[in-house]
Amino acid sequence: MSKPLCVMKFGGTSVGDASCVARAAQIAARQAAHSSVIVVVSAMSGVTNRLIAAATRAGTGDRQEAAAALQDLKQQHDAALAMLISHQDERDKIALLMQEILDEGRRLCEGTALLCQLTPRTLDSISSLGERLCAPLVAGALAEIGVRSEAVDATELIVTDGYHGSAEPLMEATRRRSEARLRPLLDDGLIPVVTGFVGATSEGVLTTLGRGGSDYSATILGAALGADEIIIWTDVDGVLTADPRLVAGARTIPDISYREAAELAYFGAKVLHPKTLRAVMEAGIPVWIRNSFAPELPGTKITPRGRTNGGGVKALTAISEVALISVGGPGIVGVPDVVGRTFSTTAAARANVLLISQSSSQNDICFIVASADAARTVDALRQEFSKDLSHQQVEHITLDPDIAVVAVVGENMRGTPGVAGRTFSALGRDHVNIIAIAQGSSETNISFVVERKAMKAALEATHREFALEKPGS
Ligand code: ADP
Ligand code: ASP
Ligand code: MG
Repeated sequence: MSKPLCVMKFGGTSVGDASCVARAAQIAARQAAHSSVIVVVSAMSGVTNRLIAAATRAGTGDRQEAAAALQDLKQQHDAALAMLISHQDERDKIALLMQEILDEGRRLCEGTALLCQLTPRTLDSISSLGERLCAPLVAGALAEIGVRSEAVDATELIVTDGYHGSAEPLMEATRRRSEARLRPLLDDGLIPVVTGFVGATSEGVLTTLGRGGSDYSATILGAALGADEIIIWTDVDGVLTADPRLVAGARTIPDISYREAAELAYFGAKVLHPKTLRAVMEAGIPVWIRNSFAPELPGTKITPRGRTNGGGVKALTAISEVALISVGGPGIVGVPDVVGRTFSTTAAARANVLLISQSSSQNDICFIVASADAARTVDALRQEFSKDLSHQQVEHITLDPDIAVVAVVGENMRGTPGVAGRTFSALGRDHVNIIAIAQGSSETNISFVVERKAMKAALEATHREFALEKPGS
């Protein structure tokens, strides 16, 4: 009988330096004693940010910053290599490979600086360098402890569409390629160490899955190969009741459903890339979130149905890189199809609308988009409604950039009366002003808009109200 298959992803902090990489290798090696293992790696922490900053500067003609960044990355990876790999031959082999990757990065940045133009395609190639540098290091660390492994570039496995910066996998092609490339390695008892975050179009052009996308890489590969479980190793104990950086009493949730976890991720819980669970929905593969710095802890298990907590609210999340746009004024009642026109305009502007709220009199439609999309969306709306604005039927199209959305999430809120009431009373008690409210019909989520400076207070008030710091709540 074949062994179970486990896909493990290590995030940036979990491979942040030589000792972290060594710990990650130990974790994978332990798992390999009783299952087949595929490792997916992120770039070392901070590396992708640095690369993107360098690429952006190169786009303005500045080649110094890119040269400095690549030099720093070389030092960082060389230092890790020296600490991790004792055999000179092996070390030289990996160092050569890394040098080739860095040289490619230098050429890409120089070309960008020369043209003073950074295309999305080049940005993807530059931002993928961190994962490409990391995979051989982790594979080398496994070999060092006697575990056979091979670094594999995800461009050979994950086939995507051509939407640079946020590509979508084409699952059938991905399945075929992953089977052909990885199955023989697994059958041979090797651990493939795959670059997270990246893919390639069927023509072979490199793409990325979006920031934080290595989580998604892990579930894409897990689904493609019919894995038995996926473990996402990170720097916190699991999915917590709130972001621990914002709420001191946040607690690890032992079990959570796909839907709840997806809702949290969608509304900003960075612990999971928002699309992570999409890939495994159909197959129902369990996904664990665990702490690579405390591997003895069980972490959080994400399954299709989770486990009911009886009480309703499971966790909170907040997202601050968003802006509120409102289209309104008493006159808009008479404007034909104002709602349809508003949202076909946001769609044409490719703005992702996170939340919509409309007053019943139709006096005001307000919605939330990512900050990066906000100015573009407002311009497009002003153009669409230019005639109505000049006749003053639509009185305003405004943008508020200083807001945050807080979401209260829990599958069992459905049928639990009073959650909304308790939420808003708690906020009132703590003098948090609510700007807009939305509740999905699935009732898995109540979200509300507050001033950005009140975000932390809003999270603390609701966390306390639902006693989320207490085990079993
Ligand atoms: P990795 O590099 O391992 O992918 P990330 O930084 O992307 O890690 O995600 C982990 C971080 O997500 C945590 O350090 C934590 O600050 C943040 N986070 C936000 N919301 C939550 C939550 N509800 N539960 C756990 N972590 C959260
Ligand atoms: N390294 C990539 C990023 O920083 C992908 C990831 O970490 O998941 O966005
Ligand atoms: Mg992440």
